[in-house]
Amino acid sequence: MGKRPLLCVRSIPVTNVTEKSRAKRGQSKKIADVQVMLEKPAMRVLVAEDSVIYQRLVGNCLRDWGFSPIMAKDGTEAWQVLRRPDAPKLVLLDWVLPGLDGIELCRRIREASSEGCYSYIIVLTGKSGQKEMLEAMQAGADDYIVKPFDEPALRARLSVGKRILDLQEELVSARESMRHAATHDGLTGILNRREVMLALARELERAKRDKKPVGIILADIDHFKNVNDTHGHLHGDEALKEVAHRLRSRLRVYDAVGRYGGEEFLLILPGCDLMNTIIRADDLRTHIACLPITASKISSAITVSMGVAVASEAGGTDVEALLGQADRGLYLAKKNGRNRVEHLEDESVATHSRSGTKEH
Ligand SMILES: [Mg+2]
Repeated sequence: MGKRPLLCVRSIPVTNVTEKSRAKRGQSKKIADVQVMLEKPAMRVLVAEDSVIYQRLVGNCLRDWGFSPIMAKDGTEAWQVLRRPDAPKLVLLDWVLPGLDGIELCRRIREASSEGCYSYIIVLTGKSGQKEMLEAMQAGADDYIVKPFDEPALRARLSVGKRILDLQEELVSARESMRHAATHDGLTGILNRREVMLALARELERAKRDKKPVGIILADIDHFKNVNDTHGHLHGDEALKEVAHRLRSRLRVYDAVGRYGGEEFLLILPGCDLMNTIIRADDLRTHIACLPITASKISSAITVSMGVAVASEAGGTDVEALLGQADRGLYLAKKNGRNRVEHLEDESVATHSRSGTKEH
């Protein structure tokens, strides 16, 4: 019941039913057009055209075919539109234009195009010679149509351009999701081990150059085996996700967190000296311990133990040494009763520690 009025209302701007000629077209076609429109917004097409007659003719055709035209009356205006970050990818260029001509626009578009950002260019011109067509294609045009044009021919060529651009969009988004899958942990959504290690190596290099410290935290869920054994692995997975979420919620934009091992997390805190790293680690520890984790109607109290280490502003600390130091802190935190933060200056002396209510 509710769908039909929506379709009728939405059909007005799409098919422009106020014009008598268009009103004659079948209702079923309008609804079909609208359904396409509702699935995806109309593809925008930049039309660079100085002739008012062609502006109107091409504009009307594009709207009829489900595109959204953006008009530029000269080459300079077209170039301004094309330089915007959200510029249309489908471009219809006249050759002879005030300011920049269509061929110069083709060259500029190709020079400026970056990875995954292809524009499909159709030159629509009164020049009918084969040499001119070759010149336009060599300048970067994908297609060439001579005026006066046949409407089905223009529509066909535009649909080819749209198909190629749609395909490109799919490929780019597939590549992005593959990149994300390769760098992030599938369960928790934070960085995977390889990526957080790369991030740490990068931060240590940067810190050495900027002469700033880098704090790291190794955090491990306490008695995680018991959580799995008592409540099942599904609850264990939920606990991992929730801990990752609580860790991430307290980070600054330039911090990083990754899944270092099964129930172990590595946090990188650029610019944090030892005292700041310990304070932040303790804040995270409290944030995790303060509320039980609830999933599938099961609530469990989860705590983490943490070892911290800091690469000083003097530099010279490598990844292994830093992780080794944090790992020894973590071992001490476990040994001293869990749900606490420890830092070991060297292998025998604990210099700093923070813990929950229980001191063991
Ligand atoms: Mg012209």
